[in-house]
Amino acid sequence: MAKKQFKAESKRLLEMMINSIYTQKEIFLRELISNASDAIDKIYYRALTDDSLVFDKDNYYIKVTPDKASRTLTISDTGIGMTAEELESHLGVIAKSGSLAFKNENEAKDGHNIIGQFGVGFYSAFMVADTVTVVSRSLGSDQAFKWESTGADGYTITPAEKETVGTDIYLKIKDNTEDDNYDEYLEEYRLRAIVKKYSDFIRYPIKMEMTSS
Ligand code: ADP
Ligand code: MG
Repeated sequence: MAKKQFKAESKRLLEMMINSIYTQKEIFLRELISNASDAIDKIYYRALTDDSLVFDKDNYYIKVTPDKASRTLTISDTGIGMTAEELESHLGVIAKSGSLAFKNENEAKDGHNIIGQFGVGFYSAFMVADTVTVVSRSLGSDQAFKWESTGADGYTITPAEKETVGTDIYLKIKDNTEDDNYDEYLEEYRLRAIVKKYSDFIRYPIKMEMTSS
Protein backbone atom coordinates (compact mmCIF):
# COMPACT_ATOMS: atom_id res chain seq x y z
CA MET A 1 0.00 0.00 0.00
CA ALA A 2 1.21 3.49 -0.83
CA LYS A 3 1.90 5.71 2.10
CA LYS A 4 -1.11 7.81 3.07
CA GLN A 5 -0.93 11.34 4.36
CA PHE A 6 -2.43 12.50 7.62
CA LYS A 7 -5.16 15.13 7.47
CA ALA A 8 -3.77 18.66 7.91
CA GLU A 9 -4.92 19.08 11.47
CA SER A 10 -3.63 15.67 12.49
CA LYS A 11 -0.34 16.50 10.93
CA ARG A 12 -0.06 19.65 12.98
CA LEU A 13 -0.66 17.83 16.22
CA LEU A 14 1.64 15.06 15.18
CA GLU A 15 4.45 17.49 14.44
CA MET A 16 3.92 19.08 17.81
CA MET A 17 4.12 15.67 19.44
CA ILE A 18 7.24 14.71 17.57
CA ASN A 19 8.93 17.96 18.47
CA SER A 20 7.71 17.44 22.01
CA ILE A 21 6.88 20.95 23.08
CA TYR A 22 5.28 19.17 25.95
CA THR A 23 7.74 18.23 28.63
CA GLN A 24 5.63 15.66 30.35
CA LYS A 25 6.23 12.89 27.86
CA GLU A 26 5.25 10.19 30.31
CA ILE A 27 1.55 10.86 29.69
CA PHE A 28 1.73 8.82 26.47
CA LEU A 29 1.27 5.73 28.61
CA ARG A 30 -1.84 7.12 30.27
CA GLU A 31 -3.30 7.84 26.83
CA LEU A 32 -2.58 4.38 25.42
CA ILE A 33 -3.85 2.62 28.54
CA SER A 34 -6.98 4.72 28.50
CA ASN A 35 -7.62 3.74 24.87
CA ALA A 36 -7.03 0.09 25.77
CA SER A 37 -9.50 0.37 28.62
CA ASP A 38 -12.08 2.05 26.34
CA ALA A 39 -11.63 -0.84 23.88
CA ILE A 40 -12.35 -3.40 26.61
CA ASP A 41 -15.35 -1.33 27.77
CA LYS A 42 -16.75 -1.63 24.26
CA ILE A 43 -16.73 -5.43 24.51
CA TYR A 44 -18.18 -5.23 28.00
CA TYR A 45 -21.11 -3.08 26.84
CA ARG A 46 -21.70 -5.16 23.77
CA ALA A 47 -21.86 -8.30 25.91
CA LEU A 48 -24.70 -6.75 27.92
CA THR A 49 -26.99 -6.86 24.89
CA ASP A 50 -25.42 -9.65 22.84
CA ASP A 51 -26.11 -13.10 24.28
CA SER A 52 -23.53 -14.75 22.05
CA LEU A 53 -20.84 -12.75 23.80
CA VAL A 54 -19.80 -13.62 27.35
CA PHE A 55 -17.71 -11.15 29.28
CA ASP A 56 -15.48 -13.30 31.47
CA LYS A 57 -13.42 -10.68 33.22
CA ASP A 58 -10.36 -12.91 33.51
CA ASN A 59 -9.94 -12.65 29.75
CA TYR A 60 -9.82 -8.87 29.64
CA TYR A 61 -6.67 -7.05 30.54
CA ILE A 62 -4.01 -4.61 29.42
CA LYS A 63 -0.38 -5.65 29.19
CA VAL A 64 2.71 -3.44 29.15
CA THR A 65 5.87 -5.13 27.89
CA PRO A 66 9.23 -3.36 27.75
CA ASP A 67 12.05 -4.97 25.80
CA LYS A 68 15.38 -3.20 26.14
CA ALA A 69 17.11 -5.39 23.57
CA SER A 70 14.80 -4.30 20.77
CA ARG A 71 14.06 -0.90 22.38
CA THR A 72 10.38 -1.68 22.09
CA LEU A 73 7.57 -0.98 24.47
CA THR A 74 4.39 -2.90 23.71
CA ILE A 75 0.96 -2.03 25.03
CA SER A 76 -1.53 -4.81 24.37
CA ASP A 77 -5.21 -5.11 25.07
CA THR A 78 -7.89 -7.74 24.63
CA GLY A 79 -10.42 -5.09 23.67
CA ILE A 80 -12.68 -4.79 20.65
CA GLY A 81 -9.89 -4.14 18.15
CA MET A 82 -10.09 -2.19 14.90
CA THR A 83 -10.88 -3.15 11.32
CA ALA A 84 -8.72 -1.79 8.50
CA GLU A 85 -11.36 0.93 7.97
CA GLU A 86 -11.28 1.83 11.65
CA LEU A 87 -7.50 2.00 11.69
CA GLU A 88 -7.80 4.42 8.81
CA SER A 89 -10.58 6.57 10.23
CA HIS A 90 -9.52 6.56 13.89
CA LEU A 91 -5.76 6.80 13.63
CA GLY A 92 -5.46 8.81 10.43
CA VAL A 93 -7.48 11.67 11.86
CA ILE A 94 -7.16 13.39 15.18
CA ALA A 95 -10.05 12.75 17.55
CA LYS A 96 -12.56 15.56 17.90
CA SER A 97 -11.76 16.22 21.52
CA GLY A 98 -8.16 16.94 20.63
CA SER A 99 -8.89 19.12 17.62
CA LEU A 100 -11.25 21.26 19.63
CA ALA A 101 -8.38 22.29 21.84
CA PHE A 102 -6.59 23.80 18.88
CA LYS A 103 -9.37 26.22 18.08
CA ASN A 104 -8.29 28.37 20.97
CA GLU A 105 -5.11 30.06 19.82
CA ASN A 106 -4.23 31.35 23.26
CA GLU A 107 -4.39 27.95 24.73
CA ALA A 108 -2.38 26.61 21.85
CA LYS A 109 0.56 28.57 23.15
CA ASP A 110 0.37 26.69 26.37
CA GLY A 111 0.82 23.09 25.40
CA HIS A 112 0.70 22.04 29.00
CA ASN A 113 -2.85 23.20 29.48
CA ILE A 114 -4.25 21.72 26.33
CA ILE A 115 -2.82 18.33 26.73
CA GLY A 116 -3.58 18.13 30.41
CA GLN A 117 -7.15 19.18 29.83
CA PHE A 118 -8.18 17.33 26.74
CA GLY A 119 -5.76 14.51 26.36
CA VAL A 120 -4.21 14.31 22.94
CA GLY A 121 -4.69 10.63 22.79
CA PHE A 122 -2.99 8.23 20.49
CA TYR A 123 -0.54 10.63 18.84
CA SER A 124 1.19 11.27 22.14
CA ALA A 125 2.98 7.97 21.44
CA PHE A 126 5.18 9.94 19.03
CA MET A 127 6.65 11.88 21.93
CA VAL A 128 8.63 8.80 22.92
CA ALA A 129 8.61 6.60 19.81
CA ASP A 130 10.01 7.15 16.34
CA THR A 131 7.97 4.33 14.87
CA VAL A 132 4.50 3.36 16.05
CA THR A 133 3.05 0.06 14.88
CA VAL A 134 -0.52 -0.94 15.67
CA VAL A 135 -1.55 -4.54 15.01
CA SER A 136 -5.24 -5.01 15.55
CA ARG A 137 -7.90 -7.66 15.04
CA SER A 138 -11.48 -6.60 15.36
CA LEU A 139 -14.10 -8.62 17.22
CA GLY A 140 -15.79 -10.91 14.70
CA SER A 141 -12.95 -10.83 12.20
CA ASP A 142 -10.27 -13.43 11.43
CA GLN A 143 -8.07 -10.94 9.65
CA ALA A 144 -5.77 -8.56 11.47
CA PHE A 145 -4.26 -5.36 10.07
CA LYS A 146 -1.14 -3.41 10.76
CA TRP A 147 -1.06 0.40 10.87
CA GLU A 148 2.45 1.80 10.88
CA SER A 149 3.89 5.29 10.93
CA THR A 150 7.22 6.95 11.50
CA GLY A 151 5.53 10.29 12.05
CA ALA A 152 4.31 13.20 10.01
CA ASP A 153 5.25 11.68 6.65
CA GLY A 154 2.18 9.43 6.76
CA TYR A 155 1.16 5.87 7.51
CA THR A 156 0.54 2.50 5.91
CA ILE A 157 -2.09 -0.15 6.57
CA THR A 158 -1.36 -3.74 5.55
CA PRO A 159 -2.80 -7.18 6.37
CA ALA A 160 -1.16 -8.85 9.36
CA GLU A 161 -1.28 -11.90 11.59
CA LYS A 162 -2.78 -11.86 15.06
CA GLU A 163 -4.04 -14.90 16.97
CA THR A 164 -6.55 -13.14 19.18
CA VAL A 165 -8.97 -10.23 19.08
CA GLY A 166 -7.56 -6.95 20.40
CA THR A 167 -4.78 -4.51 19.77
CA ASP A 168 -1.00 -4.53 20.20
CA ILE A 169 0.77 -1.20 20.01
CA TYR A 170 4.53 -1.39 19.45
CA LEU A 171 6.53 1.69 20.27
CA LYS A 172 10.07 1.84 18.95
CA ILE A 173 11.47 4.00 21.73
CA LYS A 174 13.62 6.95 20.62
CA ASP A 175 17.33 7.04 21.27
CA ASN A 176 18.46 9.32 24.07
CA THR A 177 19.47 12.84 23.11
CA GLU A 178 21.52 15.38 25.00
CA ASP A 179 18.36 16.87 26.42
CA ASP A 180 16.06 13.90 26.75
CA ASN A 181 16.29 10.48 28.26
CA TYR A 182 14.05 7.88 26.65
CA ASP A 183 15.66 4.77 28.12
CA GLU A 184 13.50 5.29 31.18
CA TYR A 185 10.42 4.20 29.21
CA LEU A 186 11.95 0.74 29.00
CA GLU A 187 12.56 0.51 32.75
CA GLU A 188 10.13 -1.56 34.74
CA TYR A 189 10.19 0.58 37.88
CA ARG A 190 9.60 3.75 35.87
CA LEU A 191 6.72 2.25 33.92
CA ARG A 192 5.15 0.95 37.12
CA ALA A 193 5.37 4.42 38.63
CA ILE A 194 3.72 6.02 35.60
CA VAL A 195 0.94 3.45 35.63
CA LYS A 196 0.35 4.04 39.33
CA LYS A 197 0.35 7.81 38.90
CA TYR A 198 -2.14 8.04 36.03
CA SER A 199 -3.92 4.74 35.59
CA ASP A 200 -4.70 3.59 39.09
CA PHE A 201 -8.42 3.92 38.49
CA ILE A 202 -8.51 1.72 35.37
CA ARG A 203 -11.08 -1.04 35.88
CA TYR A 204 -9.12 -3.78 34.16
CA PRO A 205 -5.89 -5.42 35.28
CA ILE A 206 -2.71 -3.80 33.95
CA LYS A 207 -0.05 -6.48 33.75
CA MET A 208 3.61 -5.88 33.28
CA GLU A 209 5.54 -8.51 31.40
CA MET A 210 9.31 -8.48 31.35
CA THR A 211 11.04 -9.94 28.34
CA SER A 212 14.04 -12.12 29.03
CA SER A 213 16.14 -10.66 26.25
P1 ADP B 1 -9.98 9.41 21.89
O1 ADP B 1 -9.59 8.30 22.84
O2 ADP B 1 -10.18 10.72 22.61
O3 ADP B 1 -11.14 9.04 21.00
P2 ADP B 1 -7.43 8.84 20.70
O4 ADP B 1 -6.53 9.63 19.82
O5 ADP B 1 -6.86 8.43 22.03
O6 ADP B 1 -8.74 9.69 20.91
O7 ADP B 1 -7.91 7.54 19.94
C1 ADP B 1 -8.57 7.67 18.70
C2 ADP B 1 -9.47 6.49 18.41
O8 ADP B 1 -8.70 5.36 18.00
C3 ADP B 1 -10.29 5.99 19.60
O9 ADP B 1 -11.48 6.74 19.78
C4 ADP B 1 -10.56 4.54 19.19
O10 ADP B 1 -11.68 4.48 18.31
C5 ADP B 1 -9.32 4.17 18.41
N1 ADP B 1 -8.38 3.42 19.25
C6 ADP B 1 -7.22 3.88 19.78
N2 ADP B 1 -6.59 2.92 20.51
C7 ADP B 1 -7.39 1.81 20.44
C8 ADP B 1 -7.30 0.47 20.98
N3 ADP B 1 -6.29 0.09 21.76
N4 ADP B 1 -8.30 -0.38 20.67
C9 ADP B 1 -9.34 -0.01 19.88
N5 ADP B 1 -9.47 1.23 19.35
C10 ADP B 1 -8.51 2.13 19.62
MG1 MG C 1 -7.86 8.24 23.94
